[in-house]
Amino acid sequence: LSDVLPDICEQGFFALLNQVYTAGKEYHNADCKTQLMVDGQLQTKYFDFSFKPLIDAQGTIYGVVNTAVETTERTLFAQQLQQVNQELSALNEEFQAANEELLATNEELHSMHNQRDSLHRGLAAREERLRFAMNAARVGTWDLDIQNNLVSWDDRCKELYGFSKNDIVPYAEVLRYMHPDDAPEVNEAVQYALTPASDGFYDVEFRTIGAEDGKLRWLYCSGKAFFDEHGKAYRFSGIAQDITEQKQQEEALHLAHLKLKEKEEQLTTAKEAAQLGLFDWDLVNKVYKWDARFRQLYGMPEQDSFDDSQAAFKHLHPDDVPRIKAAVLLSQTYGKSDGVYDIEYRILPFSGNPERWVRAIGKTLFDSDGTPVRFIGSVLDITEQKRQDQRRIDFIGIVSHELRSPLTSLNGYLQMLQLHAAKKDDQFTGNIAAKARRQSDRMAGMITGFLDVARAGEGKIQIQSKPFDIAELIKAAEEESLATITSHKVIYHPVEHVMINADQDKIEQVLINFINNAVKYSPQATTINVSAVQQDQHIRVCVKDEGMGIAAKDLPYVFDRFYRVDGEHLKTVKGFGIGLYLCREIIERHGGRLGVDSVVGEGSNFWFEIPVAN
Ligand code: ADP
Repeated sequence: LSDVLPDICEQGFFALLNQVYTAGKEYHNADCKTQLMVDGQLQTKYFDFSFKPLIDAQGTIYGVVNTAVETTERTLFAQQLQQVNQELSALNEEFQAANEELLATNEELHSMHNQRDSLHRGLAAREERLRFAMNAARVGTWDLDIQNNLVSWDDRCKELYGFSKNDIVPYAEVLRYMHPDDAPEVNEAVQYALTPASDGFYDVEFRTIGAEDGKLRWLYCSGKAFFDEHGKAYRFSGIAQDITEQKQQEEALHLAHLKLKEKEEQLTTAKEAAQLGLFDWDLVNKVYKWDARFRQLYGMPEQDSFDDSQAAFKHLHPDDVPRIKAAVLLSQTYGKSDGVYDIEYRILPFSGNPERWVRAIGKTLFDSDGTPVRFIGSVLDITEQKRQDQRRIDFIGIVSHELRSPLTSLNGYLQMLQLHAAKKDDQFTGNIAAKARRQSDRMAGMITGFLDVARAGEGKIQIQSKPFDIAELIKAAEEESLATITSHKVIYHPVEHVMINADQDKIEQVLINFINNAVKYSPQATTINVSAVQQDQHIRVCVKDEGMGIAAKDLPYVFDRFYRVDGEHLKTVKGFGIGLYLCREIIERHGGRLGVDSVVGEGSNFWFEIPVAN
């Protein structure tokens, strides 16, 4: 065999054969590679082969059977297939990588698309918003393509010049409808905008006279010119807006301003003529200002503003200070007194100036929460008026005093006459004497009133306090009104027994005055309610009528000396305007309070409060 197939033997097959022949163990090999000399050429062949020992009955190996099937073709094919497969899988991998890259690119592209879409949408929305804003603001747009001499202006722009939307109007027409007074200025602005020095900016206000409606409009135009590299304007565009209303408002504001200035001047003149002093307190920042005239009146140091609201108080009569502070506090309390402040008081003498009387009128301004923010007002020197008042009061005092003694004598004589007539049974003389006595009693009552006024002015009303029961006082008033009032229904509400320490006659005088006024100032047959109720440490007495009432503007003054509300009733209802003044003096001397609530045409409720006795 090695002679015939030496090439195979060299490849180890011979040794293998020997091994099977000696060891007696089968050998199999598949697709075994072999170099064979075929047709004079060494070729690679593949075989499935086996060596199988041939063993006789004695167990002796006597031969080897060799079977071989050539598998070259199959093996090569399988090898090729494997190679192709490997290539294919490499290709596959490559393909996968390419695919992934494609996918990534695709995604990028997709997101770019999305970005572009959202940008587009944003742009469209912005454009829409701009258009909307322009429409809302009723802004017109215009655009001049200077190079090609093309002009476009929108409907709104046309409208602003008084053309209707669908009119086809060349832009050059606008000049014809411009107000002749404004045209040169606009022209100049356009020319300037078209020179590079202006950077192209254009900004004008002018009037137009509506082409079709003849209406005068104020327009605001702004725009920009664009220049080429040679500095030549090639495009000019912008917007136009109707500012007529704004101009009218400006005009109205200007007029109002002028009026205000005029009023201010009038005020200053009036202030100077009346020699008014002004005060202005900033209650938030606590800056207190008094003007020069005010400071001059008070003898205050010359200083623009003070950080202490009390700076002025030390110049005032100490007796008046508590009253003034209470009035300031009341004015600055929200919901009370409407912020109004109106008070008269004395200024202490200083460096040769005598004591002076002033009237201060002011007002507190509140913010929307009811916090007082500013307190402003003026003071007027009323010393002379006070002196005249005093002279009047003095005169009334003297005259009343002088009238009293002859009247007392007259009354005595009338009493004697009455007695005499009764004795003589002379009814006629008795009647006349009785009537004459009633009249002289009335006169005596009036004179007492005048004397009281004179005394009150001097602070000389005598108060003789002793404890008494308020129920008794009301009872006395009830008895008196039952005897004297027939024209009205006076209802007395049940009263508790409450002790007060006061001058009973004087308090009765106040109550009777309220009731008599209720009778005087309300129609016949209407009801008058009288009540007395304890509230905390006070007793509050009220007289409520269904009469003519008092207007809000008069309310603060009805307790002033000689004050009578103006009106028709003045002619028919007699009075001097001293009753309520005396009431106030009496109640205040008792450390009490009094007031009135009233609605015109519905009635008034006069009340006073006196502290209850401990
Ligand atoms: P007189 O009644 O003498 O005029 P008073 O001092 O008593 O003076 O009253 C002052 C003013 O107040 C009156 O003139 C009147 O205008 C007004 N007045 C007083 N009481 C009432 C009332 N009950 N109803 C309406 N007005 C009144």
